[in-house]
Amino acid sequence: MHFIAIVGTNTKQSTNRKLLSFMAKHFSSEANIELCEIRNIPMFNENKPQNDDPVEVKELTSKVLQADGVIIGCPEYTHSFPSSLKSVLEWLSYRVHPLAEKPIMLVGASKYATGASRSQNQVREILDSPGVSAIVLPGNEFLLGNSYDAFDSAGNIKDKKTIDFLEQCFSNFLEFVNNNSAVSQKPVGTTSNKTNEEFVKENKTMNTIKDIRWDAIYDVVVLGFGGAGATAARFAADDGAKVLLVDSAPEGHEGGNTRYAAQLVGSGDDFDGLKKYYKNLTFPMNLDEEMIDTYVEGMVGIQDYLKKYLDAEPVSWRHDDFEGKEVAKSIIAEFPEFPGAQTHDLATVHQGVFDAALWQNLKQQVSKRSDKIEVMYSTPARKLIQDPTTKAICGVVIEREHVLRNIKAQNGVVLAMGGFENNQQYIEDFLGAKKLTPLGSIYNKGAGIKMAQEVGADLWHMNNFESLGLLHGMAFSVEDDERGRLMIGAQNQVLSNGSILAVGDDGTRYFNESEENRHGHIKNHGSWKVPLNQVHPYLIFDQTKKNELDKDDIISKYESYRNNLIKADSIAQLAKLIDVDEAVLKETIVRFDNAAKNKEETEFHRDPKTLRVFDKGPFYAIKMAQTVLNTQGGPRRNSRSEVLNPDAQPIPHLYSAGELGGICANHYQGGGNLAECLIFGKIAGQNAAVPKVDELSISYLSDTAEENNTERPKSFTLGNDNTTEEKFTTGKDQYIGRSAAGIGGEVVVRLTSDSKKNIKNVEILKQSESGDVGLEALEKMPEEMVTKNKIDVDAISGASVSSKALKSAVADALNQVN
Ligand SMILES: Cc1cc2nc3c(=O)[nH]c(=O)nc-3n(C[C@H](O)[C@H](O)[C@H](O)COP(=O)(O)OP(=O)(O)OC[C@H]3O[C@@H](n4cnc5c(N)ncnc54)[C@H](O)[C@@H]3O)c2cc1C
Repeated sequence: MHFIAIVGTNTKQSTNRKLLSFMAKHFSSEANIELCEIRNIPMFNENKPQNDDPVEVKELTSKVLQADGVIIGCPEYTHSFPSSLKSVLEWLSYRVHPLAEKPIMLVGASKYATGASRSQNQVREILDSPGVSAIVLPGNEFLLGNSYDAFDSAGNIKDKKTIDFLEQCFSNFLEFVNNNSAVSQKPVGTTSNKTNEEFVKENKTMNTIKDIRWDAIYDVVVLGFGGAGATAARFAADDGAKVLLVDSAPEGHEGGNTRYAAQLVGSGDDFDGLKKYYKNLTFPMNLDEEMIDTYVEGMVGIQDYLKKYLDAEPVSWRHDDFEGKEVAKSIIAEFPEFPGAQTHDLATVHQGVFDAALWQNLKQQVSKRSDKIEVMYSTPARKLIQDPTTKAICGVVIEREHVLRNIKAQNGVVLAMGGFENNQQYIEDFLGAKKLTPLGSIYNKGAGIKMAQEVGADLWHMNNFESLGLLHGMAFSVEDDERGRLMIGAQNQVLSNGSILAVGDDGTRYFNESEENRHGHIKNHGSWKVPLNQVHPYLIFDQTKKNELDKDDIISKYESYRNNLIKADSIAQLAKLIDVDEAVLKETIVRFDNAAKNKEETEFHRDPKTLRVFDKGPFYAIKMAQTVLNTQGGPRRNSRSEVLNPDAQPIPHLYSAGELGGICANHYQGGGNLAECLIFGKIAGQNAAVPKVDELSISYLSDTAEENNTERPKSFTLGNDNTTEEKFTTGKDQYIGRSAAGIGGEVVVRLTSDSKKNIKNVEILKQSESGDVGLEALEKMPEEMVTKNKIDVDAISGASVSSKALKSAVADALNQVN
């Protein structure tokens, strides 16, 4: 039996704590009693935002859920119990209800003779209230009066009769727990014929993993619903597994970096050539030969994969002719000088980039298998559950609706939680940067790395990351928790030409602003590296350049540019405003002007055609940030997608796929990551699905496979978010229109129209577009559609996907008008 004992006060000197400590020691042969302090739990506050319950409350909730019963030590002040205990009971009955049907024993110590009888009665009443609904051991009031004198120096109760009574109460509690919790002690999903009593008896003798109370059982649990997770879940389901797929992001915001990607997938048709290219890309590192073979073989088969598994008509960006293919020309082979480069190709599921097309397809594959794949959004994975003896991974702790839940994975767990773009600590530790601005998902925080480390995984590629955007991979600076805005092409042209330069933390230039870059890497003595990141890099420019920037439709309207622009009459004043040495900044500009005049820049060899002498003033500065497109580091894996320990041995039943510890190291070739998601996602899903009947599993598998596939008792239903179409109401002359083409999935509108198809009103009912321009499109365009009475209004620049999805949803609704 495992009980938690809540010390019902926040004071340091408490005889209730002494009483509970005594009980833990005295009853140690009958139960494990763990003391829980409430001292650090903040006062209850109803206004705390959703998802933001204090971590201390979450921890206590989890402990209560895990325990067979709870003992509460109730002090008594002013004829009542302490406000700190009341606050805890309020937390535990507000958004979460872990005490529901939980057996409780009340004890109390007080310095007066009455021994906390009033406070116990009051707590008893509260524990019975709706929302708490605990089951309290009736009678058996253990009251320790005159408690300051009740203990000896070793913390034992002095009076023998008092101990006898406590033993009697505790024995009654054990019986009470057995009788009341027998049903809930059954592992979820079992249909065992054993009686409750037999089950309880058997449970007592289980080893540590068997002692875990599982909240749900699946064959495979996939963590992270991005490209790799969607793929792993789908292939595991196709191989017959019952799958749980969880994502920390709310519904519509899953998809990680995959949804933001250009959607280009690395491919090719010459195995030997492509292998040569990949070996050069990873040089001077050596990568496992079998791993490279698996990856390259996968890429050679990508076109067939897209046809066979995703029902797509794939496009080859090297060989097919179509309008718009110029946009990806420079990255078909990003390192053309490397042997084998000409064999590299890029594939997409249709003719288009940056439109979430591959992502939507992968997501649909999951939706189509809703009978096999359950999905939980807003449900972060917190910890892997590992058998301490065999080291096999047998489940995972997830946080569902603020409560930690133990999920058993019969056959395997797949880690697919993407990179660590938003983990400040990892960015400092592994990438040596103070700040990098993410261009993709804000939910990728490297949780998979920590979880893998905790179960003994080795790490690789931790120092690799890619950038994209302006100059060598920058964006206009944004707040710490915001995504940077990806600008390339025309915007980069205007920023890397003329009287404009970039300075690092000391006010000097640190790279060639007009230099070609390859996903943020610039040439470095024969190799390609991402330049050392600066804490506060600035672009410095003059009025002429400012006028040019004002003409750029995207830059001039971008809030982070407009709001952060710094203007000064002199270089001296500007230097002060951006916190660099005045003399150094002056010198930087003099050198730049001289290079422009001489048509030769000897420091970084910027193309003379891009240089122009600065005006006399005013001068401008705008803060920039180096971007992080994706990281590559994580747990080391092998060609079977198994996660390895430092001895290169697989951690049993643990798999990984995608950006979390991916294969791409050193020089990065665009398309490499999505190829990785498709190739290793499939391998991971299929291998995780294989039923595990080895000796490693014995300790945590249920008796038979059927036992695990039966319906769970209602009280343990955790909910499935992989549900069918939502219904929306309509009034007179109203029609619902849908489009699945948004960046974040479905866009649903309610159109009001007369019988002649005149557009009277357009309301957005559902959307999950990205927080910047996508939302602007959905805010502005409906009004314009009504004013102009047509669907085909101007799209918002930079939000073509969201604009298109909106138009298609309105068209869908309009088509229903008779
Ligand atoms: C702007 C941009 C363009 C790109 N273009 C390309 C391209 O064209 N081609 C290419 O190959 N690569 C491209 N990349 C890189 C590529 O998108 C990613 O490497 C790839 O999508 C990673 O897929 P993934 O499934 O491993 O991770 P992701 O797609 O990032 O998914 C990870 C998921 O895990 C979830 N998660 C995180 N923590 C937890 C947790 N604790 N519990 C549960 N869930 C969790 C996240 O919410 C997320 O949904 C691009 C990246 C960006 C940002």
